[in-house]
Amino acid sequence: MNYRSNTLYRTRFLPDDVEITVEPDQDILTAALYAGVNLKYGCRHGNCSTCKHWLIEGDVDNSKASADAISHDDRENDAILLCCAYPTSDVVIEIESDITQPLPELIKPERRCAVVNEIEAVAGGHMTRLVVELDEPLSFRSGQFCEFILDDHASGEQVRRCYSIASSPAAGSKLEFCIKVVERGFFGTLLKNLTPGDKVELQGPFGTMSYKGDGREVVMAATGSGIAPLLSILRDLGEGDARPKITLYYGARSMIELGYVDELTALSRDRDWFECYFCISQEETPSDSDLYRSGRVVENMARDIASGSHLDAYICGAPGMCDTVTGLLEAKGVPESRIFADRFFPAAINLHDVK
Ligand SMILES: Cc1cc2nc3c(=O)[nH]c(=O)nc-3n(C[C@H](O)[C@H](O)[C@H](O)COP(=O)(O)OP(=O)(O)OC[C@H]3O[C@@H](n4cnc5c(N)ncnc54)[C@H](O)[C@@H]3O)c2cc1C
Repeated sequence: MNYRSNTLYRTRFLPDDVEITVEPDQDILTAALYAGVNLKYGCRHGNCSTCKHWLIEGDVDNSKASADAISHDDRENDAILLCCAYPTSDVVIEIESDITQPLPELIKPERRCAVVNEIEAVAGGHMTRLVVELDEPLSFRSGQFCEFILDDHASGEQVRRCYSIASSPAAGSKLEFCIKVVERGFFGTLLKNLTPGDKVELQGPFGTMSYKGDGREVVMAATGSGIAPLLSILRDLGEGDARPKITLYYGARSMIELGYVDELTALSRDRDWFECYFCISQEETPSDSDLYRSGRVVENMARDIASGSHLDAYICGAPGMCDTVTGLLEAKGVPESRIFADRFFPAAINLHDVK
């Protein structure tokens, strides 16, 4: 089925009986968020099942949903992933709400044009730090992400890629991103040719992994560019009054692959509420530094955390790491409802690459 059509379709959500209009080529999730309907979702590209709900009437093209995210049985029973559901008629959808995980207040996404302000290789060339200046400020909470909208000249279609905002909301219309270099990736290739002054388009904010800020002690875990949303939270907290105790475990295979080491080191030296451990899995660590630890993030957390019922957890990066750390923390007693994770699923999916 081809979802490219010029027709506007109506989507009605039950049980609240809210109706929205979905633009041609727009997925139902994006249309709902733009219309102010607050829904739970994760990767926005059909790779997790966070936005799975039930089709009651009508038809959608859901062919971009990954088989890992929605089972054959679920499909047979009319389950759909809203993030890649394109209506081919007016539809009615039953929303399954999770009362154990109340959603943060929705900030409606908006589209923005931006100009590249700074672009530089960091982490020994393993990541790119990109700063863009928006034509108009964008409201967001620390921990949220934006989606770049890119033209694919080969197919004539638009391609979307999600990137967490690394800057604090206080930085105004300058947004910083920290992007892992994916050789031959669509955005990875495009990034190589971007220079200051180039124009880009993005929309946001998206994501429900924003900082909850209710004073509970926090443990954070990240690998690679997964540090981006956590940096936003830390930079935001550095500027504000609410400062719970925070411990960050930030991992990479070798020391050079870590980004923002100077900033994180300075923060941990200057603030008594922040501790940081750089976890290095495949290289010897300096014996004269109390910041570096040998082993993976999950191994270090397993050693340090005896019981976690008092903790909130923020976990970002490769989906495999997020799953392992989530499993560990649940086993240590961190309530499921207090674990917030953003799994960096690639949009062009080959899960074997990113486990
Ligand atoms: C909510 C969310 C937030 C995200 N935030 C960030 C962020 O802040 N920083 C960031 O760097 N990325 C982030 N990502 C991932 C990002 O959206 C892209 O998927 C990633 O940058 C690859 O895009 P690409 O166009 O370069 O590669 P694609 O063209 O999508 O992929 C090309 C090939 O590379 C493989 N591939 C893609 N990613 C990886 C990887 N990480 N490791 C190994 N192989 C891979 C793909 O499976 C595919 O085979 C986030 C993803 C999500 C869902």
